[in-house]
Parts: sequence; C-alpha cells; structure tokens
Amino acid sequence: MHFPKPILFLTLICFVFISCGDESHEDLMIFTNATIWNGSDQSMQENAALVTRDGRVVSILDMNDPDFPEGAQTQDLNGAFVIPGLINAHGHIGMARGLDTSAQAHTTDNVIRQLRLSAAYGITTVVSLGDEPPHAFLVRDGVNPAERGMARVFLAGDVLYADSVDEVVEEVSRNHEFRPDWMKIRVDDGLGQREKMSPEIYSAIIDEVHSHNLQLAAHIVTLEDAKGILQNGGDLIAHSVRDEPVDRELIDLMLDRDICITPTLTRELSVFVYAERPGFFDDPFFLEYADPEVLEQLQRPEVQAVFTGNAADYFRNALPLAIENMIALNNAGVRVAMGTDSGPPARFQGYFEHMEMQMMQDAGMSAAEVLRSATRYAAECMGIDDELGTLEEGKWADFVVVEENPFEDITNLRSITDVYIGAKRVVR
Ligand SMILES: [Zn+2]
Repeated sequence: MHFPKPILFLTLICFVFISCGDESHEDLMIFTNATIWNGSDQSMQENAALVTRDGRVVSILDMNDPDFPEGAQTQDLNGAFVIPGLINAHGHIGMARGLDTSAQAHTTDNVIRQLRLSAAYGITTVVSLGDEPPHAFLVRDGVNPAERGMARVFLAGDVLYADSVDEVVEEVSRNHEFRPDWMKIRVDDGLGQREKMSPEIYSAIIDEVHSHNLQLAAHIVTLEDAKGILQNGGDLIAHSVRDEPVDRELIDLMLDRDICITPTLTRELSVFVYAERPGFFDDPFFLEYADPEVLEQLQRPEVQAVFTGNAADYFRNALPLAIENMIALNNAGVRVAMGTDSGPPARFQGYFEHMEMQMMQDAGMSAAEVLRSATRYAAECMGIDDELGTLEEGKWADFVVVEENPFEDITNLRSITDVYIGAKRVVR
C-alpha cells in the first residue's frame, strides 16, 4: 500500500504513542440546552448544543439530533443565550494601573489582571493598539489564556513616530523586533501639543509596515487626515472623525479597500465625564470590579479639575459629531468594529466596552448590528477571523453565556452568567 508521506508519518507516530486511535473523549465537551448565535448571518438556533474539542468548536447541534454524541463531558446551560466572545478591536493593555502610568504600573501581573478583568466582562479578545510595556508581549507569548481565564491579546507595540522620512526604516524595524500583530501611528497634533505628522512621513511608514506584512492603524481626528491615511494605504481608522461630517469621498475610500473604523466613543466621554461624579459610579455592573480607591481619587476636586478645560471641551463638543459620523459610515456599509480605547487611566476595561455598545445602540445601531460589530466584524477588521469572532468549526470556543436575549437589547449582555475561553470556564 502506498501512503502519501504525511499520512505515513502520522501512522508511525500513532504506533509509537498509541493514543491517536482512541481520540479520547476527555477534551470533547458539549454545552447543552442553549439558544446559540454563532456570529454568522444565521439567526439564533434554539434548543441547541455547542460541541467543542480541545478548546475549539466542532459543531452546533440540535438537541434532538439523532446522532447526538455520547460519552462527552456535558455542561447544561439551562436555556441561556450563547454568543461568540466579545472582541475589543481597539484597547490598550498594561499601560496603567488605576490612575498610575509610571514604570511601577508596568508589570506582568498587571497585564494578566487586566486581561482577566476584560474576560470577566465577556471581552475574550483585546487588540491593544499601542504603548504596551514589554510585559504585555511576555504574557501574549507565554501565558495560556484559557488556563488563566484571561482575554486573548494582540499587540501593536510602540506607537511609531518619525521626524523625517530618513528615520522611518529604523523606527519600524525597531518595533518589529517585538513581533507586534499590528502597528500604529498618530497623525494629529494632539490639539496643538505636537507637530502633525506629514503625509510624506506617514506614507513612508505605511509602506514600511506593509513590507513587514503587517497592517497599520492610524489615530486621527480630522476628516482630512482620515482621507490622507486611506489614500496612502492605511488599514484602520482607529478613532472617529471629529471635526467635520464624513462625506462621500471618505466613504468610497473606506469601501474601496474595505477599511474599518473603531469609533471609541467612550474615549471621548472619558476626557470630560469625571469633571463631576458620573452616574455610572452607582452602576452595580461597574462597581462589581471597580477599585474603590480609584473611584475615590476620581472624585477629588483637584482630579476633577483635570477633566475640564480646552481638551475636555473639545471632545465633549465633538462627541455628537463622532456619533453622527459612526452612524453615517455604518449606514453606508462601512464596517464599524467595536473599540473603546480603554486601558489608559479612567477608561475602565470591560465596563467601557459595555458602555460603548450601549452608546452604539443609543445612536441608532440595532442590537444585531452592535453584536456583529463586537464579534465577527471586530475579528475580520483586525485580521484575526481565522480563529476568532464566530463559533464556527475549528475556531476557538470563546463564548459568553447570558440570561437575557442580547438581540432584543444590547444591554442584556449585562446578564452574563459565564464566560468561556477555549471552552474553559473563566472564574470571574
Ligand atoms: Zn488608542
């Protein structure tokens, strides 16, 4: 008999290790009695079961399927709803602890703690778009998310900066040594705090990043900069356009190459909301994981004063336009990926993602659109949809169990009962 080489090789391995034949049912799990949305365009499947093996999705079955597998470990979900794990397409991991951004905050423990916090809120993946400490890379590469009950993480490394085109190659290759998943630039002037990055420089950066087979996310504020980034090949608009209404030209530029936007509405909110004690300081869903010391600090008059002034006014005034622009892009068929910019001080990871989704719904997106934005679209937009974003065969079994139907109202996601990463229950 003639075996193709790989099969012959596997057969030999099986002789040596014996275990191949009996595909032990140890890692075969069945989550039964659920209403499951797999993240695709299919509607929810009632009276269904999710079958997983070795942390990955095998299938979704009808409970009455005559071929329902036996001998697997079973977990009864008691009629709850199951959705794919939520993905924050624009967060930041490990850069602050509470309000502290000093070197003391940069530890491996802090990175893990933040990823566990995200997971507790059902955010099973965070794409961290820049300024992470090296510890975040150590965690990404060395810690198993399912074992630690923490969100999966993708990283952009240092936000790229160059004073001239001559510096671009070295700047990009320096960051590339960390093996980031994305790269990131800021092109705005930080409301007059720094010089704007010229199109000549960002164009060179985009080309250089592409030469490393990576994609580039751009922090923008203005319509003009968003267009410039897209005309020069940028791959993600990482914040809302906040100076002018988006127009047909921008929409066409985005649709042409299927470029996504992460609106980060809660980022705008975080710049001014602490000038007074915000209402969500009384929200039990927030207080469940909030650090009382940070809440106390944020209510001190001298800290509240930080959230007033020009920048606060600018972003407070820009928020309605950011929302309007998000809706215009969404209605035009541009993919909106849920992203919050959470992670810097007072942008509360996990909770802000739920607040972002609520703001998206309040702005006029349907609950179904928001769910898609926070799962499949977020995965597709960030190039991680081969393994994440839907509960389809072969992908990681990252999912959230909720009591109330999130398709009726996105805030029903607050009724989380359990979160699973790689089919393993997260201890919240
Ligand atoms: Zn950001």
